[in-house]
Amino acid sequence: MRLIVLGPQGSGKGTQAESLAALLGVPHIETGAMIRAEIAAGTALGKELQVYNDRGELVPDDIIIRAVTPLVTGPRGWILDGFPRTLGQARSLDTMLAASGYGLDAVIALAAPDEELIARMAGRRYSASTGLSYHLTTNPPPPGDPGPFVQRVDDTPERMRRRLQLYHARTEPLIAHYAACGLLHTVDASGPIEAVTKAIVADLGLAA
Ligand code: AMP
Repeated sequence: MRLIVLGPQGSGKGTQAESLAALLGVPHIETGAMIRAEIAAGTALGKELQVYNDRGELVPDDIIIRAVTPLVTGPRGWILDGFPRTLGQARSLDTMLAASGYGLDAVIALAAPDEELIARMAGRRYSASTGLSYHLTTNPPPPGDPGPFVQRVDDTPERMRRRLQLYHARTEPLIAHYAACGLLHTVDASGPIEAVTKAIVADLGLAA
């Protein structure tokens, strides 16, 4: 299966993408995590990406498209999380998939009000040792993860607002793009994690 999970920051996009990847036995391709790994590795590209990431701005389309292309054009399925994020990226993906002959199966759009998204992001922490994301109250770290649990540099109130603004301006138009292709499944993301997973699984007609 080839799925895109679309949704604003704090909608639980990464958590849901991770569960779906485990359920379907396909890789979870998360561009934000790829970027953070490149920054942590201290490469020249990582230094360039850090400028965008730390400000909550989008990385230029050509850089991100170059990184994602080899991961999505093979016969194996995937769950894409954080890509595409602009209409330019979506159109490039359409072209890549048409050329490879492996089409997209569905796009899940998670929806929740901005106030709830900001509250969720404020409680978000990630493990500096495993890179996994948690939430202090709704998804606390398990005892096996040694941490330490830190806040992302782009999870400050000012940057969260900027990232949500960018989501509405640059990424939301993708909803109409995929609706026009007949691939869109909109799911209410304001409930608990398990309820949202159930809704996605039911909507896609998958057996949990
Ligand atoms: P995320 O973890 O998905 O919130 O992504 C963190 C940051 O990585 C974003 O604020 C952007 O700077 C960058 N990023 C991730 N995916 C993309 C993308 N598809 N296009 C442009 N920038 C991206």
